[in-house]
Amino acid sequence: MSIKELEYKREVAWYSMDDAHKEAAHSFSKGYIDFLNKCKIERECVTEIKALAEKNGFVDFNSVTKGEVPLKAGLKVYWINREKAMILAVIGKQNPADGLKMVGAHLDAPRIDFRPQPLYEDHDIALAKTRYYGGIKKYQWVSVPLALHGVICKKDGTKVVINIGEEADDPVFVINDLLPHLAYEQVDKKASDVISAEGLNIIMGSLPFSSEDPDELKGVKANVLKLLNEKYGISERDFNFAEIEIVPALPAKYVGLDKGMIGGYAQDDKVCAYTALQAILQIDETPDKTCACYFSDREEVGSMGNTGARANWLENFFYELCNAYNISNDVKQDSGVAARRGMFNTAFLSADVTAAFDPNFPEVSDLTNTAYCGMGIAFEKYTGHRGKGGASEASCEFFTGIAKVLDEIKIPWQLTEMGKIEKGGGGTIAQYMTDLGMDVIDCGTPVLGMHSPYEVTSKVDVYWTYKAYLEFFKKY
Ligand code: MN
Ligand code: MN
Repeated sequence: MSIKELEYKREVAWYSMDDAHKEAAHSFSKGYIDFLNKCKIERECVTEIKALAEKNGFVDFNSVTKGEVPLKAGLKVYWINREKAMILAVIGKQNPADGLKMVGAHLDAPRIDFRPQPLYEDHDIALAKTRYYGGIKKYQWVSVPLALHGVICKKDGTKVVINIGEEADDPVFVINDLLPHLAYEQVDKKASDVISAEGLNIIMGSLPFSSEDPDELKGVKANVLKLLNEKYGISERDFNFAEIEIVPALPAKYVGLDKGMIGGYAQDDKVCAYTALQAILQIDETPDKTCACYFSDREEVGSMGNTGARANWLENFFYELCNAYNISNDVKQDSGVAARRGMFNTAFLSADVTAAFDPNFPEVSDLTNTAYCGMGIAFEKYTGHRGKGGASEASCEFFTGIAKVLDEIKIPWQLTEMGKIEKGGGGTIAQYMTDLGMDVIDCGTPVLGMHSPYEVTSKVDVYWTYKAYLEFFKKY
């Protein structure tokens, strides 16, 4: 044996891929780009995932919990939580108390939301006040075209879906930056102060409304109210009953002359959501263990809330699953105990993105431990801050088992850390799954410019992320 064989070296996956995998990676990215363009916010993801799931034979889990459909091996179910979070499961042959194989991604992304009373008028420009959601660099959101996505609940019980700014003939919305000519003071400020939170006000209109009636409202805000009423039948008060998210009105596209990368908004964490979804849709044989995807909301603000990963909705799923299994298969076991055992025995891939090495900012990465674009799915045993603070850590026994499955069919993967130790940090839903007793490891696609209006991934990493989740479902 030569000493060379003892060394571990990573290289870009394209070098070792055969033509079939290269072709598959290129064609996989087409569906991903369509998904990014269709699903910018969590509600849109749930709508799209539900449609794809139904097309692939999944049925509403509520029909199982109500006792209308028996829970048998091979059944495929989806369960939706308040139109923002979702579980898909392919029921396996084993007792769910033996554990599941799960992949969990999040559907929310950093963005800007409308405040409860958004509309106002200032010197004949109508504007809307906003509050940012998640960790954004505020200065990145000015002078880019923006779109409005969301819903308004009307008092008559109907819900209006809002989507303005994505179609070719739609208007877009903008938060203006200050011109450099008058920015001598601004450019000397700290980056976090260059644009203030109170300054993230978007242009809603500039054409005034006027009428013959001297008592009637006039001006640019009046005209915005008139237009909104014509289009959606709403009044200003209805913003109190709205969830409207402001996202970049930028379509996802290939990046680079060779089209080797993908640019688009909210790839954190749509890339893991899409690849996990495609993986579970590809399960063609009834698995031994139940395989499930968990799509959570509110990860970007700490996973709090009843649609976030800290909600006990996931525990309820285990309970309902075990209860239905017992009834449908005439098994005498306590559903609560079975659910607890099921969680403890579950293997969970926390499917979230990590930072890719960026040649423009080499100083923030440890070059031997960073994830690199093109080197495949990136695993992280721990996330958190400084001395492993605020995070769970996967055991080497668990990770070895996962890696063995991937190595068998030569899936490129890299075990990484996000950034130099004291440069910053981050978290995922992993720790909330370990709270339930599960074995968990983070793994997902490396991203450039994470949390910016236009994030970038490598096509080949997206493809191998999908293959890794699929192989986990099939062979782990
Ligand atoms: Mn994420
Ligand atoms: Mn994030």
